[in-house]
Amino acid sequence: METQKLTWFKNWFEAQRETLVQTYTSAQNEFSISKDELADEMDLTSYELEQSMRMRLKARENLFIKKIDEALLRISDGSFGHCKDCDDEIDVRRLEARPTATQCVSCKEASEHKESIHIDGLMSKSLGKRITLVA
Ligand SMILES: [Zn+2]
Repeated sequence: METQKLTWFKNWFEAQRETLVQTYTSAQNEFSISKDELADEMDLTSYELEQSMRMRLKARENLFIKKIDEALLRISDGSFGHCKDCDDEIDVRRLEARPTATQCVSCKEASEHKESIHIDGLMSKSLGKRITLVA
């Protein structure tokens, strides 16, 4: 991949990471204020709901930050933009649409196809069992 393009992705990932970390920090500040304002049980319930929502959001953000860190690592070791399965270059248009992509389109499709075969296999297996039980 061209250095210019690579720098663009690097900047993009770093900006995304910063935004995520900032959002998370401000959410935490908000969080501590609402904790102090707890008055009765009703508030406690909404506080708990809010807390679990934040936890889920945090988990998702952490996962995305992890993906960003992995992408930044791939940029620095030179493997960014290459498919992790076949090592072919991933189409730049695909990366622009999904910068954290680690597989080329054909490997992605192949692994999705494999998954669907796996599900079919499980289904026919359980179907066979059912037939045996009926007989
Ligand atoms: Zn591939």
